Amino acid sequence: MTDYSFGALRRLVVKIGSALLVDSDGRFARERLDQIAEDIAALHQQGQEVLVVSSGAVAIGCSILDLNRRRARLEELQAAAAAGQVQLVRAWQESLSEHGIRAAQILLTPDDTEVRRRFLNARGTLNKLLELRVIPVINENDTVATDELRYGDNDRLAARVAQLVMADGLVLLSDVDGFYDSDPRGNPEAVHIPLVRDVTDDVLARAGGSGSVLGSGGMRTKLLAARIATHAGCVTVIASGHVDHPLRTLAAGGRCTVFMPEGSPAAIRKQWLAGILEVRGSLRVDAGAQKALESGSSLLPVGLVEVQGDFRRGDAVQLLGPGGRELGRGLASYASEEASAIVGCRSEEIEERLGYRGRSVIVHRDDLVLFGQAGRK
Ligand code: GLU
Repeated sequence: MTDYSFGALRRLVVKIGSALLVDSDGRFARERLDQIAEDIAALHQQGQEVLVVSSGAVAIGCSILDLNRRRARLEELQAAAAAGQVQLVRAWQESLSEHGIRAAQILLTPDDTEVRRRFLNARGTLNKLLELRVIPVINENDTVATDELRYGDNDRLAARVAQLVMADGLVLLSDVDGFYDSDPRGNPEAVHIPLVRDVTDDVLARAGGSGSVLGSGGMRTKLLAARIATHAGCVTVIASGHVDHPLRTLAAGGRCTVFMPEGSPAAIRKQWLAGILEVRGSLRVDAGAQKALESGSSLLPVGLVEVQGDFRRGDAVQLLGPGGRELGRGLASYASEEASAIVGCRSEEIEERLGYRGRSVIVHRDDLVLFGQAGRK
């Protein structure tokens, strides 16, 4: 990908930093949220899919519970997150509904995006919400996250979400309008860099320390997020949320730093799938299913002829044609035992065979690569 057009991004993750949603005196800056919601509504209405990653729960909660964020202990911050999150998500819901848009809350922990078995669940829910034209409002599940087991900052969370849903755009809105060759707060001569093609260690070294006292992120966490997202095929943009209508401004060519990916999300994902070395089993399909796979569909139980091996949900399996030739690979949505139970089964029979509702696909089309497809854009 060599060109960037904000309007052409199909699926967009927008991350809003705490410093934007809380005033300098610690109060919830509801007007700013309303304005950003209006911008998001405009993108949604012109057909772009938007996922919101909103920080601010801890900062808003500290003000509700009268806690000093800098001196608070972990349990106090978690209590603050619990109190703040409910207010934060309610504000998003109210604000988006002003524009006729429904919102849904998703709270994630790192396992939900980093462990394969779990990421299938989170992704399934997010995709369904988008299909229903609902805007997911996402945050870290701060109330249960511990220091060892957390994203730590919402820049990284947003990048992981972008990777998970194969977004082609990630916008990090914060109190800076992009990346500079040195920290602009300490150096008035710092030069703004509009385009970064590769987040190298040298780029990272220019980032300086952490940002505001309200959130956990700084330029370094944004660059690391940009690295994750661009490696997943997602254009990443750092822009200021302090300007009037930040997303509208960005769409009109406003000042920002753009980080370009090396390929499309689909192509990069297929390369990754093709490169998984450990295959736990195989699924043999009939001629009809082979044709459906080749035309870009998911693998349904009805087309399944035989299941071999011992695998769990999320493990990689080989896909074999009717004659046993390897067609490609994919991540199984079912464990081997369950998959065996629904061989040849029509969708409406799955529940009867398994004893619970189950999922309609054995391998989702986003989770499979047919040989010859890897690298194709
Ligand atoms: N999840 C935190 C919150 O909602 C924000 C983390 C961050 O500042 O990046 O307050």
